[in-house]
This record gives sequence, C-alpha cells and structure tokens, in this order.
Amino acid sequence: MNKKIALLPGDGIGEEVCTEAVRVLDAVAAANGHSFEYEKGLIGGAAWDDHQSHFPDATLKVCQGSDAILFGSIGGPIDLAHEPKWKDCEKNSILALRKAFNFNANFRPAKVYPELVDICPLREEVAGKGVDMLIVRELLGDIYFGEHRRETRDGRRVAIDTAEYTEDQIASVAHTAFKAASKRRKSLVSVDKANVLETSRLWREVVKEISADYPDVELEDMFVDNAAMQIIRDPSRFDVVLTANLFGDILSDAAAVLPGSLGLTPSASLNSEGFGMYEPQGGSAPELEGKGVANPIAQILSAGMLLKFSFGLTKEADSINRAVEKSLEQGFRTADIASAESEKLSTTEMTNKIIENLS
Ligand code: NAD
Repeated sequence: MNKKIALLPGDGIGEEVCTEAVRVLDAVAAANGHSFEYEKGLIGGAAWDDHQSHFPDATLKVCQGSDAILFGSIGGPIDLAHEPKWKDCEKNSILALRKAFNFNANFRPAKVYPELVDICPLREEVAGKGVDMLIVRELLGDIYFGEHRRETRDGRRVAIDTAEYTEDQIASVAHTAFKAASKRRKSLVSVDKANVLETSRLWREVVKEISADYPDVELEDMFVDNAAMQIIRDPSRFDVVLTANLFGDILSDAAAVLPGSLGLTPSASLNSEGFGMYEPQGGSAPELEGKGVANPIAQILSAGMLLKFSFGLTKEADSINRAVEKSLEQGFRTADIASAESEKLSTTEMTNKIIENLS
C-alpha cells in the first residue's frame, strides 16, 4: 500500500515525538511491504514566525493532498499565552483543522496498562480490574456551535448559549461509535442528560434507532452525572462510551488521567468519509522540549490509530499496540512513567525498544 501522510509536528515536544512515530511507521511499512510518504506542514507557534498565522494556507494544502494527518501538539509555555505567537494558538490551529475537514467524531481511548496500575490515580483494586475504554465524542454540534449572546433584562446582564443537534449529526457519530464497538468488546454506553435536555432526548431516540443496525452490540443509556461517577468508581465496566460534544469534552479529560501520564494517551478525529487527524491527547509540554525525555508512546499509538482507521491496516496497527505493551511488560520506562528504581529511557531509546518488539 502506498499512502501519503501530512506530518504536522507543531510545538514543544511535537517535533521529537513525531520523529519517533515516523521511525515506527517506517519499520512497520518495511516489514509489511507498504510505502508511506510524508509531507511536513507548519502549525501552531511553529508556523507563526514565518506566516503570522497558526494555520497557514500552505499547511491546509499539505493536509488536503494527503491520506491522513499525523499531528504532534501545539502551544507555548502557559506564562507566554498572552503573546501574539501563542494567543488563541489552539483555537486557530486545532479547531480550524476540525472545521476545515468536518471532523465530527473524536476517539479518545483510556487504557490502564497492567504494569502501570501503580501510576493510575485510582486504588489498585479498582484500576486492577482492567481499564480499556474508548470515548467517542461528537465534535461539530451541541452548545459549542450554537448561538452565544448577551442581553440585558431589567438592567441585569443575561448570557445565552444555545445547544442544537440534528438527527443526522447524531446518526453519523453513532454509526462511527457502533462500528468501533463491534470491533471491540461489543458494548456501547450512550451518555446524555435525557431527563432534562431536549437535545439529549433526540440523542437517545436516534442512538436507539441506529442500534438496530448493530444487533451484536449491547446498548446502554446512562445519564452524564452517573457516567462521571462510574468512570472514577468502576471504569472497567466501560468499553465504548458515545456522547455529545460538551459531555465528551469533560468526560474524556477525566478518563485521560486514568492511564497515569498524558505521554500514554493517543487520539483520533475522523470525518464521515474516514479522513482523520491523529494526535496525542496531551499538549506540547514546553518544559520537556529539547531534553529528549518525552514519552513517545502517545504519538506512536496515534500513528497506530492512523493505520487502523484511515488505512484499514488493522494487523499493522495491532503490531504497534502489542510492541508498546511488550516494551512496558519488559520494564522499559520513560521518566513520566518510571518508578524510583527503574532506569529512565530517553525518547529515542524507548522507541528503539518498541521497534525491536514489532512482530
Ligand atoms: P501538557 O499536556 O503539555 O502537559 C501536562 C503534563 O503532562 C506535564 O507535566 C507534561 O510534562 C506531561 N506530558 C504531556 N505529554 C507528555 C509526554 N509525551 N511525555 C511525558 N510527559 C508528558 O499540558 P499543559 O502543560 O497544560 O499545556 C502546555 C501547552 O500545550 C499549552 O500551550 C497548551 O495550550 C497546549 N496544549 C495543546 C494541546 C494540543 O496540541 N492538542 C492539548 C493540550 C494543551
């Protein structure tokens, strides 16, 4: 298979971890007779110096001419957030990319590796039951995309945000989530607030209708307040969690802390044609930039998701996941996941172990 990948490393540790993910992709390609071509694009602060834009047209063209996007991370040090180079950087790059390609489904896996139960913030008897969930969040609707306005009533300020969902928006992300569930443990929890919100009542109706197309997947509805509790109290009960934009934003951040480091958590944003952007759930970790100590696993697993979801290369993606698991089983650790006794591998050394473990 010959494919072209847009490579947008961005800022901070983005460049370092993307370099490692490309090494893994090339090793997988060589072992399986594929050829991946990469075209780099500037994004975020890295684009600002040359273009005075966080998402230049040239980068959009690189993405449009590719089969998938591998994205690093963007953003500068928090104390410089007011400077033009960093101000609105996330909005101007990530949200602009979502809009440009109509990415309507965001996949955020949260997995606690058995060897890393001790860095999960939950008690061992909870985390030790096994945590491996995938949150599928709708990305283009809900209160974020409705009307936002202010008015004055009786001389007092009033703020109004409108939530809206069409049945097509719900159906599209629901199909994506059911397809994912049918390839996993065949269980889907749909999270809403149908006891209060009309958008949630439509959500529940449409998800139920779509479920008829996936008879092998068990559907359960859950209110968001209960889901927030269960993700902390009993996360092992979840396989795929499907939810709307606002609830997904919050629940996926709660789930992201379970693995124990943002260096472990990949993500994907897909549109209804299967075109996707793949990136770590964490940010640019500016304090780690250039030190060669960042954990490359989140970026490498993101590359694995790219192979699976955009190129249909499930066997190759599984080999990446397995190589990561094996490297962790063998005790290899970067600083963010190391115990006091373990040797701390550099970004490149950790990748070397993963490449050695590719089957
Ligand atoms: P962050 O995710 O960069 O860092 C949070 C913590 O996780 C830090 O302790 C960091 O060292 C650690 N961490 C993250 N990735 C790691 C890795 N691969 N290996 C080891 N440790 C890792 O979040 P932050 O510090 O709140 O934000 C830093 C910058 O990133 C800000 O400018 C923010 O706006 C931006 N940001 C970007 C994205 C994105 O690109 N999608 C997401 C979140 C934050």
